[in-house]
Amino acid sequence: MNIDILFGKTTEHLIPLEGTKYQINKQMLPDFLRLQRDANKDGFDLQIASAFRDFDRQLKIWNAKARGERPLLDDQENVLDHSQLSPKEIMYAILRWSALPGSSRHHWGTDIDVFNGNTQTPESVKLSTSECIGNGPAASLHEWLDGKISQNAAYGFYRPYLTDRGGVSPERWHLSYYPISRRLGEFYTFSLFKKNIEQTELLLKNEILENADEIFNRYFLNVDIP
Ligand SMILES: [Zn+2]
Repeated sequence: MNIDILFGKTTEHLIPLEGTKYQINKQMLPDFLRLQRDANKDGFDLQIASAFRDFDRQLKIWNAKARGERPLLDDQENVLDHSQLSPKEIMYAILRWSALPGSSRHHWGTDIDVFNGNTQTPESVKLSTSECIGNGPAASLHEWLDGKISQNAAYGFYRPYLTDRGGVSPERWHLSYYPISRRLGEFYTFSLFKKNIEQTELLLKNEILENADEIFNRYFLNVDIP
């Protein structure tokens, strides 16, 4: 396997998703289309808000949040005051919602953020919990997904960030294609993780390296499995 796949530094594992601007992992295309078609039959327009993201894009997200150019959120999705936080606090606030460049599951093309095209538009989607529960515009789609994929990865899909495990915040909208993401996750060792950070020019690098062990365990390995 080309190790660059793990870090979002190649596109060789991807295929464009017709009718969208997104690329997804080649191997999940048939099962994704099957899930989308079955959603459609039951009246849900299952659409993608984010799929493959490359290393540079994740690096820009990370640095923008580290500089306070993009909002930092607390656990309740309230905006934090960047100027009141220490570098270490900023790092942990980012990690709650965004992966380090090189360790996002979105690099793999196996992970997608979804919305309901019947009730949401690409412009209106925020990817927040309130959209996905109660009277939220994506709540009924997610209830349908609960019944379909549950946590047993029917169609191959499941939610790695369903419960709050003290690492990444729960993200009901984030689906992962388990047959492939499980395999890629197994390749991704702590030494690869650390080497990637050492070789990357990114903000908060010292804080990350000082806490590398904890970050890897708490924010990368610590996901729900089917
Ligand atoms: Zn996501």
